[in-house]
Amino acid sequence: MPEGPEVKRLAQRLGKVLVGKPLSSVAFSYKTLGSYDQELSSSEIELVDSRGKALLIRFECGKTIYSHNQLYGKWIVTRAGVEPKTGRTKRLVIRTPQHRAALYSASEIEVLDTSALLDHSFLRKLGPDALSEETHWREVAARLMESNFKNRSLGALLLDQSFVAGLGNYLRTEILHESCLHPDLRPKDLSQREIGKLARTILEITRLALKTAGVTNKPSRVKRLKRVGATRSRYRFSAFAREGQACYRCEEKIERLSVNSRRLYLCRICQPGRSRNAGGHS
Ligand SMILES: [Zn+2]
Repeated sequence: MPEGPEVKRLAQRLGKVLVGKPLSSVAFSYKTLGSYDQELSSSEIELVDSRGKALLIRFECGKTIYSHNQLYGKWIVTRAGVEPKTGRTKRLVIRTPQHRAALYSASEIEVLDTSALLDHSFLRKLGPDALSEETHWREVAARLMESNFKNRSLGALLLDQSFVAGLGNYLRTEILHESCLHPDLRPKDLSQREIGKLARTILEITRLALKTAGVTNKPSRVKRLKRVGATRSRYRFSAFAREGQACYRCEEKIERLSVNSRRLYLCRICQPGRSRNAGGHS
């Protein structure tokens, strides 16, 4: 599933071809949404943005198209008049004189009143967005110590969109590895310093992924690895999908676990578990 940075980049890409352009048509394939075709076609798109992993297309007429791609949804942008070859089911097509932007296979699409966005059942539950400039690491640090979050394992918390919106599976591994924290630890097990470092890392790594199109390894390491001819799949992550390879910090082999039914990668030396305070590594 695309994570916050991928959805934000998609919003930026769609925004470039749709915002402020005259619309030739907006056409839904869902019968229930077809009644909006005309109203939206005669309006103009003001903004394409993301909230966590949801995509929001805001129209001047006061409506917003909300879509959440889940596992299978995909946007395909082509020049006007070009139908991409795909076996996917078409859900929504937005046409301008220059472009055709179409959403395929999404499992959730709704048309909402922009003024009532915050009442939406999914958006209402989202925590602060890691990619919003308004989200400060101190706010994330304070949330870590709130009663509904401080007793939960970090492995679960970092996938929970009501804690911080926009995180996902590869970001979880990368954030924990960079923060030197085991997924079984809970915020209440951490020192003040670790809480601060984790909160900053959550925002830094997610924002780095937005800037680099998903490369979350340290920029200095990426530079060094590129110099010796490493491909993107070799330099992209510091721990994710690196099972059996050496940790960049300590050279221990990276291990793969399943945490909350999703794969997670860690270094047992850099990220000791709960028994760390008793002097051992778990
Ligand atoms: Zn290590």
